[in-house]
Amino acid sequence: MHKIRLSGLIEESIVDGPGLRFVIFSQGCPHRCKGCHNPQTFDPEAGYDQNIFDIIEKIKKNPLLSGVTFSGGEPFLQAEAFSEIAKRSHEMGLSVMSYTGYLFEDLKKGFDANPHWKKLLKNVDILVDGPFEIEKKNLLLKFRGSENQRIIDVKKSLETESPIFIDQPQPFV
Ligand code: SF4
Repeated sequence: MHKIRLSGLIEESIVDGPGLRFVIFSQGCPHRCKGCHNPQTFDPEAGYDQNIFDIIEKIKKNPLLSGVTFSGGEPFLQAEAFSEIAKRSHEMGLSVMSYTGYLFEDLKKGFDANPHWKKLLKNVDILVDGPFEIEKKNLLLKFRGSENQRIIDVKKSLETESPIFIDQPQPFV
C-alpha cells in the first residue's frame, strides 16, 4: 500500500484546480476516452512506482500550496494509496481535488465492491467526474475538457446522496 504507480508529478500547477496545486498523475486508465490528452497513462504496467510517503514529504516542503490534485490515468484504480495521500494532505490544511472517468453516482454504487472508493471519496473535496467526450470538448471550460464533465462538492453530495455542483471551486476548503 505504500507504493503507487504514477505517470508523473507536477509540484506546482495553477491549471489543475483552484490556487497553487501539487498534481499527481496516476498510471492506468480503463476508460480510454477518444482524444484523451494523456494516452501514455492507459497501460497500468507503464509508468513508475513511487513511495507515497516520499510524495507526502514533497508536498510538506512547499508552504505555498493551496491543495493537491489527483489526475490521470484513473486515480480510483489506486484508491487506497490516494486516500492515504488525501488524508495526510488534509492534515496539512490542504484541499484535495480528484479527477475521475467514473460518474459520482457510479462510484457511490460501487462502494460495496470497492471499499477503498468510499475511503477516497470521503477524503476528496472537489471531484471532476466523467470521461472526456471529444464531441463535447470546450476549450473555454475551467478545469474540465468536455461539457459533460462536472465539478462536484463531494462533502455536500455525500450528505445529500446526489451530486451538488460547484461553479467556482475555491482554493481552500
Ligand atoms: S478518464 Fe481521463 S485519463 Fe482516462 S482516458 Fe479518459 S480523459 Fe484519459
